[in-house]
Amino acid sequence: MLEIIKEVIAEDNMKNIMFIAPPAAGKGTQADYIKEKYHIPHISTGDILRDIAKENSEIGNYVAETLSSGELVKDDITYKLIEQRLSRPDCKNGFIIDGFPRNYEQALAYDEILKNLGYKIGAVIVIDVDKKILEKRITGRRVCSSCHEVYNINDENNRPKLESICDECGGKLYQRADDNIEAFENRYETYHKKTEPIIKHYEEQNVLYRIDGNETKEKVSKQIDEIINII
Ligand code: AMP
Repeated sequence: MLEIIKEVIAEDNMKNIMFIAPPAAGKGTQADYIKEKYHIPHISTGDILRDIAKENSEIGNYVAETLSSGELVKDDITYKLIEQRLSRPDCKNGFIIDGFPRNYEQALAYDEILKNLGYKIGAVIVIDVDKKILEKRITGRRVCSSCHEVYNINDENNRPKLESICDECGGKLYQRADDNIEAFENRYETYHKKTEPIIKHYEEQNVLYRIDGNETKEKVSKQIDEIINII
C-alpha cells in the first residue's frame, strides 16, 4: 500500500485546472502550455500509469495489460497514485490534472481527495473536438519515451524534425499501444458513457468552462488563458 503524507500547504490563489476531453483532444499539449506559462505541474494519470507499466512487477504487468486494452485501471490503484502525487510540494500553487476523474465515481473520490488535501476544485475545462479530427490525430500521434513530448506526423505544424527522434531531448519517439483505431473506438465510447456525465457534476458547482478544441493549438491556448485569468 502507498502511504499518503501531506507535504504541501495550499496557497490561497492556487490555479487548479482539470480537463475533460475525449482521447487526442489536445489536453496533453495544452497542459504543457499551461505548465510552462504558469509554472504549475502537469499531472497526467496516463503518464503516471505508463511509467508504472514499465516496471517488472505484478502491478506493472497488470497496468501494462489494462492500458493496451483501453480499459480503465482499478480505482484503488489510481486514487492512491493521484493523492500521493497531489500531496507533493510542487502542487502548492496549483496543478493541471489530466485524465482524472473519468467517471462519476472517480469525480466523487476526487472531491474527497481535494478535501483531504485542503485544495479547491479550480476550473474544469471541457475541450470539445469533432470525432473525425480525433481519429486523424490518434493515428499520427507519437510520444517521446523519455520526456513525454507529443508530436503528430499527420500535422505539418507538429511533426518532429527527425523521424522517431524527439526535438526537445533526443529521446526515441513511439506510438502508444492504445493509439490505434480499435482502442480509440473503445476509449471514445467509454468517454461518452462514463466521462461526459461528470460534466453535470461540475456544472452544478459553477466551475465548468467549455472551449472549442477543433482550432489550432495556439487558439485553444488563448481560450484557456482567458479562463485562467478569471479564476
Ligand atoms: P490517457 O493517457 O489519459 O489517454 O490514459 C491512457 C490509459 O491509462 C487509459 O486508457 C486507462 O487505461 C489508463 N488511465 C488513465 N487515467 C485513468 C483513470 N483516471 N482511471 C483509470 N485508468 C486510467
